Amino acid sequence: MALLDKIYNAGVVGAGGAGFPTHIKLNCKVEYFIINAVECEPLMHTDKYIMLNNGEEIIMAVEEIGKLVGAQHLVIAIKEKNTKEIKHLKAIIETMGSRITLFTMGDYYPAGDEQMMVYEIIGKPIPEAGIPLDVGAVVSNVGSIVNIYDAMMDKPVIERFLTVAGDVKNPTMIRVPVGISVKACIEAAGGSTLKEYAIIIGGPMMGTIIDDHEAEAFHIKKMDGSLIVLPKDHFVVERKRKPIDKIINETKTACIQCRYCTDMCHRYLLGHELRPHKIMRNIGMSDHDEAIMKEALLCCECGICEIYACPMGLSPRLVNVHVKKELYKKGIRPEKGSLDLDVRDMMAYRKIPSYRLISRLDLLQYYGQPIDEHKDLIAEEVAIPLKQHIGKPATPIVAVGDMVTKGQMIGKVERNEMGANVHASIDGTVTGVTEKITIKSNGVVS
Ligand code: SF4
Ligand code: SF4
Repeated sequence: MALLDKIYNAGVVGAGGAGFPTHIKLNCKVEYFIINAVECEPLMHTDKYIMLNNGEEIIMAVEEIGKLVGAQHLVIAIKEKNTKEIKHLKAIIETMGSRITLFTMGDYYPAGDEQMMVYEIIGKPIPEAGIPLDVGAVVSNVGSIVNIYDAMMDKPVIERFLTVAGDVKNPTMIRVPVGISVKACIEAAGGSTLKEYAIIIGGPMMGTIIDDHEAEAFHIKKMDGSLIVLPKDHFVVERKRKPIDKIINETKTACIQCRYCTDMCHRYLLGHELRPHKIMRNIGMSDHDEAIMKEALLCCECGICEIYACPMGLSPRLVNVHVKKELYKKGIRPEKGSLDLDVRDMMAYRKIPSYRLISRLDLLQYYGQPIDEHKDLIAEEVAIPLKQHIGKPATPIVAVGDMVTKGQMIGKVERNEMGANVHASIDGTVTGVTEKITIKSNGVVS
């Protein structure tokens, strides 16, 4: 079977966050195939763990994908500070006689942003609202590569490695079935050291936040890579939860138009016409200039403007999120810009050192937390969302009462559709089919 068909069958989606269906993404011809192993969000260790534990699989899969997309250059982008992982991958590359090269990046945020990475590697900025393909590249996260290797072996995506860190008794790496509850993952790390807490799913900059009492109802998806437990009144938690009305009121009264948010914005620095200070000025006016507001559509929500840049503690990122929603409601979408971009001169000097960012985030007490070796979790029940990715949800192909086996397809998309198949991650009986398929274990571990 062709590799793209295997990837489609296995339901592989981008493991780095957005969850773009991989069989669609890799249906292309490019000069560069880039593997994102940078993991620039603070406190995350999952990609590093995967590289140390699945190095051979990564190199084998990258070689195969390189043939598929016709890439002349196969490049793994990794932080230069990750010397153990670099040494490990280099040794495998040499032993296997692979043509893959490593590209080392500084320890800054957002080194893992696809647009920054592509620019650093090939020297061309991606156009506004564009994708790496526009400049002859395609990028996959290192976690996706391991899933592609499994797909080559006809194994679907039914497991995830996760970092569980922050205020937990034993910060740890876990391998879990997709659909396990967040609560079970926190318990696997010994539970929280706090009586009440919030959980960031993903990184502190771009992740989403849930409360401790919601942990049972939230389930791990294919692209989740970490859970970080923090006090409910932690700066990061309060910042993410600020209501938009309050944010807009604060903007009206406190924005001093210093434009630091614009000058530090890496999309602006890459030459895009995204000027958050202008959006902040506009949001405070009764008549909005739609041309300015449309710039918000270019925002990737990295959070630099609100966590690092703004001296007044304002939230251009959350304003952009709000403006984007309003524009989408009106059917306004981002338009692809020109390839002819002028990268701003200050670009090289405005990369944010990770340590300083962690300090700004008030996360230093968790920096360098020792992470226990991974343990495999067994779930008694899983709830597997039919939509874990960009695009169309999968259509359920099982009903309540059906017995299913681990790896069996339970939700399907057509081959040409933007979406991904989903599979049972445990053996058991289907107990619910809604927007999630719930499976109760039959007690047999296969
Ligand atoms: S969140 Fe702020 S810094 Fe990041 S891309 Fe958007 S406007 Fe720029
Ligand atoms: S950095 Fe803050 S105060 Fe300065 S222009 Fe941007 S939002 Fe306004």
